[in-house]
Amino acid sequence: MTSMTQTLLNFLFPPCCPICHVRLLCHDHDQLCQDCHNRLQPSPDWFCRRCGRDNHSGSETDDCPSCRDDPLMPDCVMAPFIFAPPISRLLVGLKFSDRGQWAALIAKLCWQHTGLMLRQQQIDCIIPIPLHPWRLMARRYNQSALLAGQLAQLLQKPMVTTVLHRVHWTTPQTRLGALMRRRNVAHAFRAVGDPCAGRSVLLVDDVLTTGATVYSATRALKQAGIGRVVVMCVARAMEPIRQ
Ligand SMILES: [Zn+2]
Ligand SMILES: [Zn+2]
Repeated sequence: MTSMTQTLLNFLFPPCCPICHVRLLCHDHDQLCQDCHNRLQPSPDWFCRRCGRDNHSGSETDDCPSCRDDPLMPDCVMAPFIFAPPISRLLVGLKFSDRGQWAALIAKLCWQHTGLMLRQQQIDCIIPIPLHPWRLMARRYNQSALLAGQLAQLLQKPMVTTVLHRVHWTTPQTRLGALMRRRNVAHAFRAVGDPCAGRSVLLVDDVLTTGATVYSATRALKQAGIGRVVVMCVARAMEPIRQ
């Protein structure tokens, strides 16, 4: 797009904050206004850096009793925000209201909070949590793939969608407790190593609740020979977890 076309488009459709619709002073459409930006809640740091679980010790560590002896757990879990407004509104809009254009903004917010850490992980490729083909047909797009595509651009690494597959239809996790979530997705994924065998992958999902989905996908990836799995979920749900 030429700069003149962009200027004309900005004149006709001035950039607005997607949350409160206040007009933005900059020319970038993928922004929150300052007020909404100030309301973002960063995730607290008492979660295990490796598996993302509350490690109960009150300090951030590289591993915890839940993941220390399990090589099939992720190597690092990042969830930069708490699932609360305004990030929750962006994620719900992205997932259920056809707001695919918000993926760029959400990825940019993640990048602002975790870009340095992400670069240190030396990621080779980005893999989104896949939807089951039937669900993909019904929803028409995979919100995790939209986010992964944007993160791939920021990291300048390829997104790969041929490695991880969802092979079982699962009920939505939203209404299930922790144990049922684990059972629900235990065998939901199948992975083939090529072309990421031995590589470091960034596995992308929208919300981290109990971790059941990303743990199950990580297990499939590592069993298929993927070297390292770093998980990026945009937000962490802080609701009390039912066992
Ligand atoms: Zn706003
Ligand atoms: Zn852990």
